Amino acid sequence: MRRKLVAGNWKMHFTATEAAANVECLADAVTARDDVDVVVCPSYLSIAAVREATKRTRLEVGAQDVFWAAQGAFTGQVSAEMIKAAGCIYCIVGHSETRGRFGKVEVPSETVCYFADSDHTVNLKIQALINTGLRPILCVGETQSERDANMTDAIISTQIERALDGCQPDEMSELVVAYEPVWAIGTGNVCDATEAQRVCNLIRASISDRMNSELANAVRVLYGGSVKESNAKELFHQPDIDGGLVGGASLNPREFAAIVRAA
Ligand code: PEP
Repeated sequence: MRRKLVAGNWKMHFTATEAAANVECLADAVTARDDVDVVVCPSYLSIAAVREATKRTRLEVGAQDVFWAAQGAFTGQVSAEMIKAAGCIYCIVGHSETRGRFGKVEVPSETVCYFADSDHTVNLKIQALINTGLRPILCVGETQSERDANMTDAIISTQIERALDGCQPDEMSELVVAYEPVWAIGTGNVCDATEAQRVCNLIRASISDRMNSELANAVRVLYGGSVKESNAKELFHQPDIDGGLVGGASLNPREFAAIVRAA
């Protein structure tokens, strides 16, 4: 039986003080639930304050990205070992925003190349996290134009296959995969629950093909993209959806707590 998991991606919101205050608001609502894992992913600079604030709670902490090398001359980057030492258990990898695949483009198009994750760098990051004992939350998802061109299934299975290239099934039991259709992120256009279930089932089938069926059944698969209090229950009650990766709605402790209750 897979445990439900709800993760909040706080993106580039909150100073360290604000992030810690948000945890205080969330703690009571979340501590009442011992059947759902709840993770918050603040910016790197807020991880220490959030970790301190979560110590007396059931909340766990994740990072939003990682660099794959262990150390070296990589200005601005953060290694898996640094993330682990700061108290994180999880780390998001391959979010569509770090892949430069924006649903709602709010950056000038000529800067998109600076958000440059590829399937190959995602794979290197997954390997760095696994080797360090951190749990990757691997994001996969198609853009609107890929969906319109009936490419969804091919995009998803290719992203899974390339992300897991060279990984060993017996090391991957803590992997989490988030199906995040790019067109649903931050747009209010949530994916229909039946379609989200279909794609999450496809994700398990791809893991089964690439690894084995035991791992495919053990991996937690989340849905992300405009999850709200009003739609969480239907999504999280689909057989292959084990919870959610929540962006905008995770910034509001009352709404995030309601989404956790829906799981
Ligand atoms: C996300 O960015 O991972 C996300 C799911 O965002 P939102 O919930 O705001 O659509």
